[in-house]
Parts: sequence; structure tokens; C-alpha cells
Amino acid sequence: MIRLVKGIEPEILATNKGSWLRDLNTEMDTGLTVNKAPSSKKYNQPTVKNSLMAESNGKCIYCESKIKHVDHGEIEHIKPKSKYPQEIFTWENMGFVCAICNNKKNDRYDPSIPIINPYIEGPSDYLVVVGAAFFARPGSDRAQITIETVELNRVELVERRNDRIKQLHTLLEKANRLPETLKKAVWDEIRAFVSESSEYSAATNAFLNAFS
Ligand SMILES: [Zn+2]
Repeated sequence: MIRLVKGIEPEILATNKGSWLRDLNTEMDTGLTVNKAPSSKKYNQPTVKNSLMAESNGKCIYCESKIKHVDHGEIEHIKPKSKYPQEIFTWENMGFVCAICNNKKNDRYDPSIPIINPYIEGPSDYLVVVGAAFFARPGSDRAQITIETVELNRVELVERRNDRIKQLHTLLEKANRLPETLKKAVWDEIRAFVSESSEYSAATNAFLNAFS
């Protein structure tokens, strides 16, 4: 999980969110639940998803997996739709996530201990990455809730992060053994490897920092 910057609200959302919300409220007034109300799906537009995907470099905002390798990705509502229907069309409440994180989070959200929102706060203020695993900074209930809610240390993620760390270590070895004139190319590769557009950059950056 890394800090993200919210992009510009897509025009289709800016233009229509008011009328979509009025339609949704009308449907809910007839007794429909949010999930059954047809208007609750109107946020699900290709341009909205593409804009969210661009913000996170095609990665899940929670686990940093590159989604398009295996899945279409999903639009996540940080404050869940069922509990916060008035924020269904709020741009700042949306993010791009993998199906696994979305499924694990579901409608879990406790406003007294909210899950970390990477768009408004730095995850590293709450979480520490040691090797391939995330730990809560001592005393941070929000970090603990975040780790548990989306299972940030689920086995598949730890394995993938370990693979990335091993690849990074190989690159560091290579850079160290090369003559000075050839080091630069490998260091360019290392910087790209740990950049925010690469998978699991929280873990690879923490690893790199441990050696510098
Ligand atoms: Zn994920």
C-alpha cells in the first residue's frame, strides 16, 4: 500500500452524479435496498474505471498487485455503498482494486477506526514493511484493521513480494560487481523496479532502503 494522488474527476461523473443520486434516493424511497436499486450501478462507467486505473498505475490501491495481468479490476468504494449510499457517486470515495481485496473488504468499514485511505494519508505513517510483510506501527489500530480487512499479508501476496525482493537483490548484487562504467544501466533498472508504477513497491523500496 502506497500514497496515491487523486486525479481529475471524469466528466461523466461530474455531470451526472447529482441526477444519479436523486434517482437512487427516489428508488430507495420506494423501499429498495441500495444493492437492488438500479441507479446504484450508474457509477460503473468505463471512463470512471480507466481514470481510477490511471491514478494507481493499474495496481490495486490496497495490495499493489498489477490487476490487468489476471483480471479486469473493480471499482472500490472506500466507504462501502451499502452503508454510505450518499457517497456512491463521490469521486474521492472510489479506487481501483483487485477482486480479492474487494471481496475481502466487502462492506467492512468502521468510522471510528477507518481503514487507511491512501488518497488522503500516507500508509507509511501507519504501516511498516519488513521483508515481505506489513506490520502495524505500535499503537496504530487503524493499521491493524487495514492489514486484517484486506488481508495485506495473505500467503499469495507475501510470496509475490518475496519474489520481487529476490529479483531486486539479484540486481543489487549485479550492480555491486560491475565496473563503475557499467553500473549506471543497472541502477536505472533498479530505480524502475522500485518505482511507484511497479508491483509491490512499498516492499521493494523498504528493502532497498535497508541497504542504503
Ligand atoms: Zn488487491
